[in-house]
Amino acid sequence: MAKIIDGKKIAEEIKEELKKEVLVLAKKKIVPSLLVILVGEDNASQIYVKNKERVAKEIGIDSQVMKLSTATSQEDLEEIILQYNADEKIHGILVQLPLPDSIDVKRIISLIDPKKDVDCFHPENVGRMMIDDARFLPCTPAGVLELLKRSNISVEGKNIVIVGRSNIVGKPLAVMLINLGATVTVCNSKTKNLKEICAQAEILVSATGKAGLICADMIKKDAIVIDVGINRNAEGKLVGDVDYIRACDKVSCITPVPGGVGPMTIMMLMRNTILAAKNQANQ
Ligand code: NDP
Repeated sequence: MAKIIDGKKIAEEIKEELKKEVLVLAKKKIVPSLLVILVGEDNASQIYVKNKERVAKEIGIDSQVMKLSTATSQEDLEEIILQYNADEKIHGILVQLPLPDSIDVKRIISLIDPKKDVDCFHPENVGRMMIDDARFLPCTPAGVLELLKRSNISVEGKNIVIVGRSNIVGKPLAVMLINLGATVTVCNSKTKNLKEICAQAEILVSATGKAGLICADMIKKDAIVIDVGINRNAEGKLVGDVDYIRACDKVSCITPVPGGVGPMTIMMLMRNTILAAKNQANQ
């Protein structure tokens, strides 16, 4: 019988821990604060931002959302970021992606003060993570690691396959797992023999955004499966990348979608914001 890794429950546990950290900081008159910049009308982004605001409030983090129109110019957005980089009351700055096509995303991310880059997308923070000297950890990969840790699953020496090589999930997760002593294979859409490679994995992580890509016959018996994917199936229901029902008969542990990695991502953002506040207070 597969053990279901309950991301919602684990995220709630972390939330309670973070609330306590915020109370300790409050005694030192520090209130962690997060600025989320949302440019344009993307529906999914609006929902994500609302959720971030809600969870921040529950924890006691002061969160502000700056909503800007799709027509916002590169220069204006850069000006806003520089302004908040210099604002000592703001500890974390997050620019919600995707940005409109008219905006140079890489330039915007590089302008955020690395000390306030709670998404951990700034090249300096990515580089520090690479050499195992992380200031922050990127939220979704950190959420995956936290799920494994709190389920008493060690990654050291494990044969881990990640399907997906994006800068947000697959690549940073691979680096973090390598730093922890795992043997990591990263696959992408050009990978040959995906089935055979996945079937070798003691821990299989899928982050592709392709519903049903990972079938039960691609999974090693008793493997641990982490499904990062969020997709809508033909009936409009949220599903992951993994054929969950059939996979459950084969795996030892698996994350559901929804209720697996998703709730962890947001909690890791909150953890980074508190860390940013602590670091800035110690400067
Ligand atoms: P991207 O589209 O940036 O990357 C997808 C990756 O999957 C690419 O590397 C792509 O390969 C690979 N891929 C696509 N099709 C195949 C295939 N048939 N075989 C092997 N590899 C394939 O997506 P993201 O990394 O941003 O997100 C991935 C998924 O995770 C999405 O469903 C997203 O919604 C979800 N997500 C969930 C989060 C959460 O909190 N739970 C947070 C972030 C994302 P190639 O590079 O060759 O194109």
